[in-house]
Amino acid sequence: PRPGSSPALQAWVDEIAERARSRLGTGRVADYIPALADQDPERFGLALCTNDGNLYTAGDAGMPFSIQSLSKVLLLSLALRTHGDVLWRRVGLNPSGMPFNSLMQLETEGGKPRNPFINAGAIVVADHLVSAFATPSKHLQDIARTLSGNPRVLIDHEVLGSEWRHRARNAAAAYLMKAFGNLDNEVDEVLETYFACCALRMSCRDLAVALNYLAADGRALTTGERFVPPAMAQRINALMFTSGMYDAAGDFAYRVGLPAKSGVGGGIVAIVPGQMSICAWSPALDASGNSVAAQYALERVAEGLGRWSPGAT
Ligand code: GLN
Repeated sequence: PRPGSSPALQAWVDEIAERARSRLGTGRVADYIPALADQDPERFGLALCTNDGNLYTAGDAGMPFSIQSLSKVLLLSLALRTHGDVLWRRVGLNPSGMPFNSLMQLETEGGKPRNPFINAGAIVVADHLVSAFATPSKHLQDIARTLSGNPRVLIDHEVLGSEWRHRARNAAAAYLMKAFGNLDNEVDEVLETYFACCALRMSCRDLAVALNYLAADGRALTTGERFVPPAMAQRINALMFTSGMYDAAGDFAYRVGLPAKSGVGGGIVAIVPGQMSICAWSPALDASGNSVAAQYALERVAEGLGRWSPGAT
């Protein structure tokens, strides 16, 4: 990726970042673990990466933050690449309509999580990776480095330790699934992998570049190689569209209309298939756990997209 070559597109990205700043001060920083509670709610970053490798950034786009649930997209991509569709015997494909850490459906639905983007679903995906790789979180870190082109992408051990100490709810989900026979490996090992992936630190720039394969039929921008087959990229986008924003997926689909995935670190990645990947970040969240200012920025991006499509005049 190189700095964007269109001054008009850069000016548009700058303008969106400026307008999004007016939304700072609404929402609350995640405080379920102490390591995230001290994030600065005034931060805002935006990065837009076109499929031809132009990168447009504004604000704190280069500042690394905790990717949290954004890692669920990488986890799923890796699991599908390794195991294919057998994964769907153990995880569903439908929106949950519940908060991302809810336990209710797990009990009534036989320990099969509704989708891979709620915590329970990602824990099952992590279980697959524990079966397949000797050091799954290190493998995911390497993939994040390769896809982003940034060798400094790291697992934040303070966040990892904090997740571990405050793991009661995620551990409850994992034990419930273990009791239903939907976890092959030891609960502690699976949880540790899941938390390590959540604790990856990446910037908007890193994420927009790394997840560009979802906009580009599965082809990674940094290596030019296919990370996932085209049909798999399409299906991951479909899941992001229906479940990437948790119980607010319908609202977000109505307002923005793009496949997207959020994390409680305040990041949201959105995909414009065939064109570009976008990452917006600001730590203050709404009641569903989605960043207020990042959602606002993505709404503005979506409303202006027609102007920037290939062939638009
Ligand atoms: N680490 C978080 C958790 O397990 C991830 C959730 C999220 O980003 N929505 O609760």
